[in-house]
Amino acid sequence: MNKMAQKLAPSGVARDFGFFIDGEWRHGREMFERKSPSHDVIVTRIARCTEDDLNDAVAAARRAFENGTWAGLASSERSAILLKTAELLKQRRDDIAFWEVLENGKPISQAKAEIDNCISCFEMAAGAARLLHGDSFNNLGESLFGMVLREPVGVVGLITPWNFPFMILCERVPFILASGCTVVVKPAEVTSATTLMLADILTEAGLPKGVYNVVTGTGKSVGQALTQHPDVDMLSFTGSTGVGRSCIHASADSNLKKLGLELGGKNPIVVFADSDLEDAADAVAFGISFNTGQCCVSSSRLIVEESVADKFEKLVVAKMEKIRVGDPFDPETQIGAITTDAQNKTILDYIEKGKAEGARVLCGGNKVDLGRGQYIAPTLFTNVKPDMSIATDEIFGPVLSVFRFSTLEEAISLANDTVYGLAASVWTKDISKALKVTRKVQAGRFWVNTIMAGGPEMPLGGFKQSGWGREAGMYGVEEYTQIKSVHVDLGKRTHWIA
Ligand code: ADP
Repeated sequence: MNKMAQKLAPSGVARDFGFFIDGEWRHGREMFERKSPSHDVIVTRIARCTEDDLNDAVAAARRAFENGTWAGLASSERSAILLKTAELLKQRRDDIAFWEVLENGKPISQAKAEIDNCISCFEMAAGAARLLHGDSFNNLGESLFGMVLREPVGVVGLITPWNFPFMILCERVPFILASGCTVVVKPAEVTSATTLMLADILTEAGLPKGVYNVVTGTGKSVGQALTQHPDVDMLSFTGSTGVGRSCIHASADSNLKKLGLELGGKNPIVVFADSDLEDAADAVAFGISFNTGQCCVSSSRLIVEESVADKFEKLVVAKMEKIRVGDPFDPETQIGAITTDAQNKTILDYIEKGKAEGARVLCGGNKVDLGRGQYIAPTLFTNVKPDMSIATDEIFGPVLSVFRFSTLEEAISLANDTVYGLAASVWTKDISKALKVTRKVQAGRFWVNTIMAGGPEMPLGGFKQSGWGREAGMYGVEEYTQIKSVHVDLGKRTHWIA
């Protein structure tokens, strides 16, 4: 470990967090502890909120929505607070990154880059707040004029996962706030710190009380109660497809709250023989290993043209073997720890299943022992059959399966051979091939000769069982609005009853 890493490593003193309702911090009656997955030491103590706490949070969000202290502001005023938040995030970037690394295990360099993206989300949403508008119809005849108003949905529940705790939060919160809604956030229980830290920053930026509230605790308790809450108008959930399905049931059984869902993926990366194979191999290795593959847009299925497949596999192996797995506080580290014990077990189980089902490991396939924490080597499986569990299931780890194709149609059919449709990537120098694949492959996010590129202008979300709705960009703000059609009569009424 180099000097910088030593300086930043956890001190062994855990930080206690309260939870945040109606502009005030509250203490939890019960707390639970979070260990750093990279260092095996307790780093945070988080409140186990109760259903009463959740009810208070929703009530505060409701009051703040109805009293107009937020939705009633001019968009320029909302925008100014979002911009101020961006400024404050710039000042606190390293501190937020530090806590993100401690709870999540991702490399510090990556965590800082993610916070830069979060800053950009607030800046983008500040602009979007001012651009949000409705429509008008001047073509309804002499006596009728039509207006289409966009109104904020109201109180939004936001449930976030542990893989990108702060980034997924910031791909949603600024856009929710830009629309004029208020929010109750329930972060993943293992990574609550940075969501709580945002509360102080928003308050300092001038956000009125009750607009941003955070309750902490498990998905089964406070998370589920949020999905079922009758006074929550919309729920944005990011996580597994299984829990996404339970959000749909909860909405149906409560108040039919509107849902935004970003769920699982088993994303294809299609590589044609005519692509720049060196570039493509680097993207393939990055696409599956970034954030240790704990990423819903990870490209976990490599679909490569038969004529170059043997050569290409070797290029990918050479890249994957060079990835630096290590202590996340070492600035040289490229991939850090697996975030939860359960996820660590899930990934290792899938690796064993892949071997047992007859797939062949070309690299990785094992834990990496750094003396503390839990790490897994980037793993490449070949000889993968479409019905193997490593071919069909979202593993959420650095485990890549290779498939081969001979024709463009076969590549498209392999790419679509999944219940998911979150993201896809295609590599070729032939523009018509690239566009044919882009048109036919079902995915909410598409990359041509690149991977995981983007910014807050571009919407996020999935096709098929990868979800409903879109986050970020203008689409992301509009998602948190509802439409009202207003009909204005300009003339004298023609009486129905003479
Ligand atoms: P993972 O399996 O990767 O942990 P989850 O979908 O279980 O992903 O978790 C994503 C988020 O959903 C977390 O904040 C978690 O606490 C929450 N969650 C888990 N189960 C439920 C549930 N039944 N209802 C609502 N939220 C849940």
